[in-house]
Amino acid sequence: MAADRLDLRPRLVAPVRLAALGDELLRGERADTNSPWLAARLAALGHPVASIVQVPDRRGAAADLLARWREEGGTLVVGGGLGPTPDDATREEIATGLGVPLVEHPRAAAWIREREARLERRFGPGTLRQALLPAGCEPVFNPLGTAPGICHAAAGRLLLVLPGVPHEYRAICEAVFPLDAAAAAAEDWTLSGLGEDRLAGELADFPGREALGFYPNLAQGHRLRVPLAGVDREALAARLAPWLVSQRGESLAAVVLDLLRARGETLAVAESCTGGLLGARLTAVPGASDVFLGGVVSYADTVKTRLLDVPAGRIADDGAVSEAVARAMARGARARLDGDWALAVTGIAGPGGARPGKPVGTLHLALAGPGVERHERHQAGWDRDGNRDFAVRQALTLLWRSLREAP
Ligand code: ATP
Ligand code: MG
Repeated sequence: MAADRLDLRPRLVAPVRLAALGDELLRGERADTNSPWLAARLAALGHPVASIVQVPDRRGAAADLLARWREEGGTLVVGGGLGPTPDDATREEIATGLGVPLVEHPRAAAWIREREARLERRFGPGTLRQALLPAGCEPVFNPLGTAPGICHAAAGRLLLVLPGVPHEYRAICEAVFPLDAAAAAAEDWTLSGLGEDRLAGELADFPGREALGFYPNLAQGHRLRVPLAGVDREALAARLAPWLVSQRGESLAAVVLDLLRARGETLAVAESCTGGLLGARLTAVPGASDVFLGGVVSYADTVKTRLLDVPAGRIADDGAVSEAVARAMARGARARLDGDWALAVTGIAGPGGARPGKPVGTLHLALAGPGVERHERHQAGWDRDGNRDFAVRQALTLLWRSLREAP
């Protein structure tokens, strides 16, 4: 489908304004994640965004945006309110603002019918209404939903109206504003095992350090934005080598799976306080199945003993959150699931559950592998969610380090 490859980059004109539509955004029930994401992408393409606004769903708001755009020119990207329900009035507003009627667009209608057939569903009239476009506008293919985007390009101006659902918004933008490596102005690196303070210390005398952007992330590994110009990337990589997981923005989980795949080895997990999060993080990576075997969510002591062969006496003596139990969980998972490697996590996620000498955030991690057994104790200092994310990241970091050192 030719329109699937619509490239709107040449049509981008300044000023570029982004708008997110939705009462929920203004009530503070939801944060606008679409606009900042697109702003970063457009900045990387050399089209910095001049403004981002959030406006209500009520009739008139989109019309105001459109009136300004018609007067001023430039680019306007609007997200939200293109869905099938009657409160999704953006398409009507755009048509009114452009002074044209809504007409069914054959290509948009064909996409919707194709999707209906592929998903073996029967769409209602609301969905079919999404083929209605303001006359003179082009539909933009939506690979993840039924509502096509709406594009209106003319000399000196570009209007793009997109569904608000974040994964649809992003998928459409990725297609129409492709970011090839050559066009990118910066790389994303993934770091794990050092925080912002430590990084600042490590780079105190590093030329060009002001141009680096550090974005901490408890779950996936920290992101370091490294501009292609003005920074000696080779020297930077050498300086950060002990913590540098990826120079291509891959997640810690993806890198660990790649390392295991290259060795032809498999991984099993045993999770207590993370309750399956570690397995979820690993299986979020496409293609995980040739490396990741599975895991045991051994929340209760009885599951630790019955499914992982953790000696009940150990749990009684040392407690379920202890080095000995973490090590036994890793050994048990490795043996029972027949993996080359096994990672185990046990800890106190909070807010309750603290014991003398074991405050909330106490974390014991263990790794069992070919001729290797390791244990780490960490102290997490966040809320329940943060502590669990931290546990997953530290566990993956332990495995990542061990794989780098493994023969
Ligand atoms: P649909 O009605 O088909 O879901 P839509 O184009 O009408 O799509 P909205 O109804 O505006 O989109 O939003 C759909 C979902 O996406 C809602 O859950 C909404 O809160 C969320 N959403 C919309 N805009 C944003 C945004 N800018 N950032 C984050 N989430 C958003
Ligand atoms: Mg909607």
